[in-house]
Amino acid sequence: MKLGIVIPCYNEEEGLAETSRRLQQLLDEMIAAGEIDKESFVCYVDDGSKDNTWQLIELFQKESSLFRGIKLSRNFGHQNALIAGLMQLKDQADALVSMDADLQDDISIVREFVKKYKEGYDVVYGVREDRSKDTGFKRRTAEFFYRFQHFMGIETVHNHADYRLLSHKALDALAQFKEVDLFLRGIVPLLGFRSCSVHYTRAERFAGETKYPLKKMILFALDGIASFSIMPLRLITIVGFILFVVSLLAIVWIALEKLFFDNTVQGWASTMISIYLIGGIQIMSLGIIGEYVGRNFQQSKERPRYIIDKEI
Ligand code: UDP
Ligand code: MG
Repeated sequence: MKLGIVIPCYNEEEGLAETSRRLQQLLDEMIAAGEIDKESFVCYVDDGSKDNTWQLIELFQKESSLFRGIKLSRNFGHQNALIAGLMQLKDQADALVSMDADLQDDISIVREFVKKYKEGYDVVYGVREDRSKDTGFKRRTAEFFYRFQHFMGIETVHNHADYRLLSHKALDALAQFKEVDLFLRGIVPLLGFRSCSVHYTRAERFAGETKYPLKKMILFALDGIASFSIMPLRLITIVGFILFVVSLLAIVWIALEKLFFDNTVQGWASTMISIYLIGGIQIMSLGIIGEYVGRNFQQSKERPRYIIDKEI
């Protein structure tokens, strides 16, 4: 079996040498044990890094035939860099494993991934068993996000990031998904096929710092909802309907007050409340609709998700 490992990198010069060393060791062991073909490889996708990441990748490639590199023309973001690697290499291996450059995800379970692949699984998810090494903030926001997604009717694998194995067949299916606002962990479950999970403990980033600051996290979370569910649009309809029913009742009540009690001048409080409440709901609803219209706009331009500068 020929295995490929795809690693998107953005400003990862601090940790990349260690990552390469460990991966070389792992793959050498697996090759020696006959678990994978000796043409198996590791491919780094340089996502427009501003430091010496690409120079390092070139160096690894010269030193060992195990390493390859793809350089994107600029920074396209983690998900786009990942899909660039997967699409570019899908026909050169029997299966591809994707992982991060920072080794937060235990690489030794690649062996389990390969075992599962050989048992006939097309999709193998790496699932974080214990996230105590992540910051409390990251854990809590992630937890909230999973719950919210679930509420919106989106099924993803809990505590699974982009550490997974995809067979050639699964990659061919993935190639048919043309969406620009990529959220791979939402798409992969939609592929179907036989799938399973392998559990591991998540470690700390051993060098460099996270490339997902809060702002990127929020935008990413938004993709994870709005690219997979039109539930927010339905909620608007439901809220609108409830307001409509309430206003019908209010009309009856106001008419009665007017006709029988002649008591209609009062009501500053209720007027103010309804203006603010309904105004707020309307503006929020416009925003939600705008979010979907905007996505439509982005998608309709059919811009490429990534542009390759060179491959080695
Ligand atoms: N990454 C990338 N492009 C970006 C941001 C991140 O290719 O614009 C890569 C990064 O180098 C790493 C992976 O995506 O290999 C995941 O990023 P990170 O480890 O910072 O995310 P976290 O684990 O903190 O969620
Ligand atoms: Mg990380």
